[in-house]
Amino acid sequence: KLYNEVQELKGNIRVFCRIRPFLPGQSRRMSTIESIGEDGELSLVNPSKQGKDGHRVFKFNRVFGPASSQEQVFLDTQPLIRSVLDGYNVCIFAYGQTGSGKTYTMSGPNGASKEEWGVNYRALNDLFLISRNRRSTIMYEIGVQMVEIYNEQVRDLLSNNSNQKKYPSVDLTIFSHRILFLNLHTLGVLNTSQPNGLAVPEASMHLVNSTTDVLDLMQIGQKNRVVSATALNERSSRSHSILSVHVRGMDLESGSSSRGSLHLVDLAGSERVDRSEVTGDRLKEAQHINKSLSALGDVIFALAQKNSHIPYRNSKLTQVLQSSLGGQAKTLMFVQLNPDVESYSETFSTLKFAERVS
Ligand code: ADP
Ligand code: MG
Repeated sequence: KLYNEVQELKGNIRVFCRIRPFLPGQSRRMSTIESIGEDGELSLVNPSKQGKDGHRVFKFNRVFGPASSQEQVFLDTQPLIRSVLDGYNVCIFAYGQTGSGKTYTMSGPNGASKEEWGVNYRALNDLFLISRNRRSTIMYEIGVQMVEIYNEQVRDLLSNNSNQKKYPSVDLTIFSHRILFLNLHTLGVLNTSQPNGLAVPEASMHLVNSTTDVLDLMQIGQKNRVVSATALNERSSRSHSILSVHVRGMDLESGSSSRGSLHLVDLAGSERVDRSEVTGDRLKEAQHINKSLSALGDVIFALAQKNSHIPYRNSKLTQVLQSSLGGQAKTLMFVQLNPDVESYSETFSTLKFAERVS
């Protein structure tokens, strides 16, 4: 069984498309989405072209229409999440222009109710639930990091904050070449010679035991993003945010251990910026985003082609995500679309990006 699973997982990239609804208060406008097929097909119409030329069909593993709930979206994501407990590295990211629903899919709307929770809360909730059920035989430790990549610099979103004292935090500069889960370490059940394989060992690691812990931490992380946003408008749409969940399992009977990780990535907006209109910082930001998103596209494309050389080194984003892209790692990309006709050209380029990697 294991053999088949591993076979199936090689080069495992799946792409889900999600179309956000027209927003309340917005008068119902014309949509660029003509139809959504059961089989993952999406038909796009170019509002300025008549006839056959104006239609394009794109194929995905799954397409979620505007009426899809957070729960429905998560149901198809859940198997990936669960494999983290079996030691797999998983990367889930949301790609699309600003306003297309990336944050909604990954986290939910601001002040989300439980029904509105996005993939990240549901994922953690699920991990806690299953790890509790398995606790009699396997002991799990779950640690969380949250970083932001802005202009090719990685920033810890969970450090230098007094609230953080509530959570046991591991100083990873000390433990960067050792096992990171201190509790198991002190129990003497782990082999300390194993490198922990952390992509950002400098970022603070917080041990979490419940969804409430995660909600609190994410609020802190969100606040830390917002603080800098006052200096630079809407910075959150111009940086990538990565929530990394590290899971260590220890089978108390056999003594074997496993380690899996889950990276949940809310990417910077993919919209192209008109070079003739921006200068200075804004231009620099745009260039960095461009560079990192195309580096991500190149990595996934190379993986999908099963190339021998995978160009991870071309951006911070792909370096940080390296362990969860390729090899036996599982990758899921949410391609987010704004259905509005005014977004047609961005929608088209988002779909072209997706087409290249799927
Ligand atoms: P992005 O992160 O891509 O910039 P957001 O997630 O902030 O986009 O979404 C833009 C707006 O649309 C927000 O007000 C968000 O709550 C809303 N929205 C996005 N997707 C959905 C959805 N599936 N259902 C309801 N509202 C949504
Ligand atoms: Mg957002």
